[in-house]
Amino acid sequence: TPGGGPKVREEKILVTVRMRPLNQREQAMYDLIAWDSVDDHTIVFKNPNHERPANQYSFDRVFDPSSSTRKVYEDGAKDVALSALTGINATIFAYGQTSSGKTFTMRGITENAVKDIYEHIKNTQEREFVLKLSAMEIYNETVVDLLNRDSGCLRLLDDPEKGTIVEKLVEEVVKDSQHLKHLIGICEAQRQVGETALNDKSSRSHQIIRLTIESSLRENAECVKSFLASLNLVDLAGSERVSQTNADGVRLKEGSHINRSLLTLTTVIRKLSGGKKSGHIPYRDSKLTRILQNSLGGNARTAIICTISPALSHVEQTRNTLTFATSAK
Ligand code: ADP
Ligand code: MG
Repeated sequence: TPGGGPKVREEKILVTVRMRPLNQREQAMYDLIAWDSVDDHTIVFKNPNHERPANQYSFDRVFDPSSSTRKVYEDGAKDVALSALTGINATIFAYGQTSSGKTFTMRGITENAVKDIYEHIKNTQEREFVLKLSAMEIYNETVVDLLNRDSGCLRLLDDPEKGTIVEKLVEEVVKDSQHLKHLIGICEAQRQVGETALNDKSSRSHQIIRLTIESSLRENAECVKSFLASLNLVDLAGSERVSQTNADGVRLKEGSHINRSLLTLTTVIRKLSGGKKSGHIPYRDSKLTRILQNSLGGNARTAIICTISPALSHVEQTRNTLTFATSAK
């Protein structure tokens, strides 16, 4: 496996929760704040109407609405992101219902990671780095290249050495941080394509921005210690797609396409965090998990940032998200 040594470390998945502020719509309807982060690790249901029993959930970190994206990055993503500089594959996900703040959070994480990666490169003169960017969107189990939409639906192929590869996926060599920001901007713009024609597309599609980082020592050509790893920044489809599916068998048939990648991802994450005894991990059951297989579990590092709304009107979806987050710990 790329970047992997012979030893397989069982890395714990870093699981954090970010609660956004009440939005204008929620404020306008006098929605109540249903959750309180009592400390940096714990979130409690405040039970504003005294209808339900109070309960609490604990994670590696809980970010309240006043937390900046820099803080979320520092405590919830930085170590995982920077591990890709030393040959360890990394994946950072935002998971949560539509409008909970996934895209907002991933943009900030990406911006901060890019800044730190270039800072590291500047401070590591003894190494020569080559960065490449690729980006995909998965919608209805079809994979599209966000840097080259004209190539249509891309096929996944099995490579005996590299594992699953995406056929014809463009990999742009990144010149510098400005160029990288420019390329990411193109991906964001491409993701909007079809947004109005396909109702609700962004809530159903997954976006993967993949930064491949290769480096080798400049001197000492005899013993070149080189690193190769990828950092995957993943903005997932809305998690309501999973709970709808689970709640209702009819939906499962009709929507099995739409939800397959998200459903499989939650199963894979649950199994990975269940330790050795959880047995077969169904990476091959969806496009998303096939693409990410080498960057999930085993030698790879994973961070999941679960985004939630504070609103009482969203309490059921928030509970679903916190239940998933608990199963990922
Ligand atoms: P999602 O991608 O989960 O559907 P978005 O990231 O698009 O949600 O967020 C929905 C709205 O809430 C956007 O207008 C976004 O700017 C805003 N928002 C999300 N998270 C925060 C936050 N932590 N602080 C301020 N505004 C936020
Ligand atoms: Mg979004």
